Amino acid sequence: MSASRKGLNPEFDAKLQLFEKKLAANGIKVVLTCGYRSTEEQNHLYAIGRTKPGKKVTNARGGSSWHNYGLAGDYAFVINGKVTWNGPWATFGKIARECGLEWGGDFKTILDRPHVQWTRGKTLAQMRQITQTKKVC
Ligand SMILES: [Zn+2]
Repeated sequence: MSASRKGLNPEFDAKLQLFEKKLAANGIKVVLTCGYRSTEEQNHLYAIGRTKPGKKVTNARGGSSWHNYGLAGDYAFVINGKVTWNGPWATFGKIARECGLEWGGDFKTILDRPHVQWTRGKTLAQMRQITQTKKVC
């Protein structure tokens, strides 16, 4: 269930690879479960728990998630060969911060521990503008 790295910002991807290495050095094996997500996929997720059955998974509509810009990744742990979300999240978050990533476990609005992102101090509003004007970010 490993996700494709396609669509990830190359610099961000390099950071993720370093992050994964540091985790491995701490005996933590992870798998990327989600990287780039299109606006359509994001809108689909947003509908879950709202207009579609299920528990809410995101507060972000299409274009409002760093996944839509290839600047976010979601992880799960691999423990005894099994993918699990029960793992050492505190260490995961600490190492994410050390790698200059923002960790979803620090979010105030929705706790999203599998999630890391790299905003480089930009807001999503700025990202939307950059994308609209077709400038390379
Ligand atoms: Zn995420």
